[in-house]
Amino acid sequence: MMSEYTIKIDKNEWEIVCGLEIHCQIISKSKIFSAASTQFGDEANENVSFVDLGMPGMLPVLNEHCVYQAVKTGLGLNAQINKYSVFSRKNYFYPDQPNGYQITQYEYPIVGKGFVKIGLSDGSSKEIGITRIHIEQDAAKSIHDLNPKKSYIDFNRAGVGLMEIVTEPDFSSPEEAGAFLKKLRSIVRYLGTCDGNMDEGSMRCDASISVRLKGEKTLRERAEIKNVNSVKFVMQAIENEAKRQIEIYEQGGIIEQQTRHFDPQTGTTKFMRKKEYANDYRYFPEPDLPPLYLTDEYIEKVKSEMVELPDAKKERFIKDYGLTAYDADVLTESVELADFFEKAAKGHDGKKVANWILGDLFANLNANKLTLDKSPVAPQMIGDLVDLISKGVISGKIAKDVFATMWQTKQMPTQIVEEKGLKQVSDSGAIESMIDSVLAANPENIAAYKAGKTNLFGFFVGQVMKQSKGAANPQMVGEILKKKLG
Ligand code: MN
Repeated sequence: MMSEYTIKIDKNEWEIVCGLEIHCQIISKSKIFSAASTQFGDEANENVSFVDLGMPGMLPVLNEHCVYQAVKTGLGLNAQINKYSVFSRKNYFYPDQPNGYQITQYEYPIVGKGFVKIGLSDGSSKEIGITRIHIEQDAAKSIHDLNPKKSYIDFNRAGVGLMEIVTEPDFSSPEEAGAFLKKLRSIVRYLGTCDGNMDEGSMRCDASISVRLKGEKTLRERAEIKNVNSVKFVMQAIENEAKRQIEIYEQGGIIEQQTRHFDPQTGTTKFMRKKEYANDYRYFPEPDLPPLYLTDEYIEKVKSEMVELPDAKKERFIKDYGLTAYDADVLTESVELADFFEKAAKGHDGKKVANWILGDLFANLNANKLTLDKSPVAPQMIGDLVDLISKGVISGKIAKDVFATMWQTKQMPTQIVEEKGLKQVSDSGAIESMIDSVLAANPENIAAYKAGKTNLFGFFVGQVMKQSKGAANPQMVGEILKKKLG
């Protein structure tokens, strides 16, 4: 079952009701209604066309690639693709919106209902409903912290294509919202439709939060928390906003619909303004753009270009490589990691390959603050290492040293074992002579062993292993020693 998240105050039990709206910047070389570049990090106001500035007489032209990306995202979220959609003007004044309106979609969005499956820490899973995805233009960026008396505006962002993904109010805990955002980020990255970088603002989250007594069927007034820019902050915002509302209700107060701001310093939310309602925006169909019609052939074409998504890949990893659900989950988080694993596992023991990646490789990457693409260890090296162990060429213990060496030298394990003479000694003659010399050096221990101190067996094994510098096959050492000691 889904995880239960309730907050108890006095004798009342409260539950959270939360929905999310996520603005995702569409990956596209040019903006949604102009030919200006979308390159992030360029000089301020470098990538701006007359259309983006709302100059008189300039007309928007829809970028087909943005449509393609939205349809692909809709398919990735198991959603209905609407063959008819309409652009609308959402009117409001703000300095970063020179037209005085935003071109967006309102009654007829390009994508309708869908769902995303999330996994929770108690091992259960839950489906989160997607209400819709509409496409729209981003606003420019206001900069308030460069000058104490002035604000600046960077229009590079104005007109960048956005997908606004709206969920049903299906979240009943911060954990569920966090799991959803991570899953959504993973899906859009797999699809290549949004880079998902919340800290760069290419994925921005608004959370609508209300609370109600357990068992209540209707929804109470909600607060909307705007533009939260990390998964952790979204979770904190939900937690603290819910607590704030519960406290007000417990003291006999009421909650009014309002827009709030999340403060990362304190983890709490602050009042911004009373919520605007849809009629405040005087939405009307955009006269400069015709309605958008998609054909079945077009939708089928996008379908045929879909990649394997995390859920399907996870199932396949469990089936084909015998991975646990947890390991498969971690290894499919990004397409890069999944590809790395598959390259390493090809023709080798997948389960053992997974262990090396999730164990030694991750530990070394973390310790050196490296991302996977900067790993000195290539996938083929891990496959080779796993083979050397299964074939008995090296022991698991030596393999750890080989791993450390290949991290340093980028050599293949086989070569390292060759050059350093780390091959496990499985030659019974060689092992026998090492045993003989150990026994010859320890006559008293032999006597004690024979008198009944049988736990000295481990001591003899240890001495032989030491003499072989860890290279002797431990199983053979045990067998031969047993014979020799009678
Ligand atoms: Mn929007």
